[in-house]
Amino acid sequence: GPGLAPANAGVKTACPYCGVGCGIVATPRPDGAVDIGGDAEHPANFGRLCSKGSALGETLDLDDRLLVPEIDGQRASWDAALARVAETFSATIAAHGPDSVALYVSGQLLTEDYYVANKLMKGFVGSANIDTNSRLCMASSVAGHVRAFGSDTVPGAYEDLETADLVVLVGSNLAWCHPVLFQRLAAAKAGRGTRIVTIDPRATASSEASDLHLAVAPDSDVALFAGLLDHLEREGCADRAYIEAHTRDAEPALAAARACGLAGAAAATGIDEHRLAAFYRLWAGTPRVVTVYSQGVNQSVVGTDKVSAIINCHLFTGRIGRAGAGPFSVTGQPNAMGGREVGGLANMLAAHMSLADPGHRDLVQRFWRSPVIADRPGLKAVDMFRAVADGRIKALWIMSTNPADSLPKADAAVAALANCPFVVVSDIVRTDTTRHAHVLLPAAGWGEKSGTVTNSERRISRQRAFLAPPGEARADWRIICDVAARMGFAEAFAFASEAEVFREHAALSAHGNDGSRDFDIGGLADLGDAAYADLAPVQWPRARTTAAPEGPIRLFADGGFFTADRRARFVATPLAPARAADPRFPLILNTGRIRDQWHTMTRTGKSPRLMGHLAEPLCEIHPADAAAHAIATASLVQLESPHGTMLARALVTERQRRGSVFAAMHWTDQFAAKGRVDALVDDAVDPVSGQPGLKGSAVRIQPFAAA
Ligand code: SF4
Repeated sequence: GPGLAPANAGVKTACPYCGVGCGIVATPRPDGAVDIGGDAEHPANFGRLCSKGSALGETLDLDDRLLVPEIDGQRASWDAALARVAETFSATIAAHGPDSVALYVSGQLLTEDYYVANKLMKGFVGSANIDTNSRLCMASSVAGHVRAFGSDTVPGAYEDLETADLVVLVGSNLAWCHPVLFQRLAAAKAGRGTRIVTIDPRATASSEASDLHLAVAPDSDVALFAGLLDHLEREGCADRAYIEAHTRDAEPALAAARACGLAGAAAATGIDEHRLAAFYRLWAGTPRVVTVYSQGVNQSVVGTDKVSAIINCHLFTGRIGRAGAGPFSVTGQPNAMGGREVGGLANMLAAHMSLADPGHRDLVQRFWRSPVIADRPGLKAVDMFRAVADGRIKALWIMSTNPADSLPKADAAVAALANCPFVVVSDIVRTDTTRHAHVLLPAAGWGEKSGTVTNSERRISRQRAFLAPPGEARADWRIICDVAARMGFAEAFAFASEAEVFREHAALSAHGNDGSRDFDIGGLADLGDAAYADLAPVQWPRARTTAAPEGPIRLFADGGFFTADRRARFVATPLAPARAADPRFPLILNTGRIRDQWHTMTRTGKSPRLMGHLAEPLCEIHPADAAAHAIATASLVQLESPHGTMLARALVTERQRRGSVFAAMHWTDQFAAKGRVDALVDDAVDPVSGQPGLKGSAVRIQPFAAA
């Protein structure tokens, strides 16, 4: 497309892939290509980029882009398409009530897109049926934060990984999934000898760079950290002053930890007691410790308890909110955090306010001047698609995500979409989901749209446009506002620019905040258009009352939690009973990312360089399991669960733990026949967070025999 920026003028923006949120300088060239470089001034990456970020220039072609709206597969005008969406949503709500419609959105959306989507559903439709693919990614961290801190606050910052003496990676292959943050950690290790421990059922690029790898049994992290808490108590490591001044409920958590103990932790994790005790001593003896956790913690039916078990250990030792110390959840997606800020989840309201709090509901409704306000949680992702399947949801609008491939029990999600009376999809390319759209809306993509994202360390960065949207593509926030206007809510959605949306979002975050809420960017509510355009990366909170140009780097060193009594809560994490093994499906399927792909490959699949890393879906399997199932090295195998099947190439390796196999989440039928791992994945969820246990499905394996 024609360049918005003059050729050779670099535009500062942010990477659209992972939650590290690296700054990028994009420079359109006269021939239409775009040079991509790291932004040396961005505090997330200081100029570094990983393989995915540096290949972004190879992903901008327009080959498969959606360029015009479609109704029932036929080209349509924007006017007709918007009218069809608005009329069908309004008619469905009128006939069946507000909970008969839903929005399923994405951590790829910008904060401004998310803000208006959430405002439309919760304030004007009057339902909280808006959930996001971030539910599959970090909902357990959100729930764990809220239980402990009274708010969804990440206490620390990236620089803590550089000033820590010990960094523990739990359920995180940081080297592949958050590569630039790992580069910063690796530099700290080389420079000052930071020790790294990786806790992961399988050996990964991260564990190879670690001083110690604990290859724990799947889903045994609660026991591991309960055992640690017990050790900390017995070794006299409690920070009594911190516990007494700033926390509550230590005793029940300690009782659960004592009941587990070293022996219980060793039994659950399958790690030898001596090895486990060595880790406990290292943790106990290193005050500057950061425990980093990601999908191996979150994507579990006990994910919230895993988060709580980790946070308990940090609270008990007062190792939180201090330089080089704290629990640290790293988010998967570029704007998972921004979605949380606006309340783009079925159980949140807006600006970290609570749906369950009548005062918060009243405050938000007055601020929005909305006719209604949702007063109870909506359906979380997995339940939302169950409700589509059984007909409770009759109109669904999916934005910027591909649930036909990425939801657990993906074949059931496809069947649900096929049966849904009205499906709208906004996206930049055709996917397995767009196939089911009655109305298809072409959205502007990365480099064409403009707004903000928030990374894992609470840092808000601008994404800036450097290309014009192709064809008739439009920004998501604009599409949502246009539909809202046609539903009769023109005044509340009369935003002229993304800057106006951001200002309203920032003003709402400060509205009525007496200091009892964590998310407050009121200091940014009066940004003029030019200041918004030039906004440098800034961490929140950034209240109006603070004179500093930056928010605090970290929170909670001196308490000040966001519970009613300003104290953090310990949460008891008794061990869940071991799941009953199913002899028909004897292996545990672990799913995850590989280094050079992103989600369902809609973008990274365009880059020859990235496609050259791993050419096809692989199933990592331990040699003993391979032998037991007659699997030959590098042969084709069929994986099967009660929900579906998948084909993959066997990678027989001792890096994989016995009894479990690993397959990547990226492949769709577009790139490899029967390559969709989520077709196999069970849809059991964590009871607190609603996040599915994407790493714990029971499967069986056999050599593939062509029919
Ligand atoms: Fe993009 Fe993440 Fe790589 Fe940074 S580390 S360049 S944000 S994918």
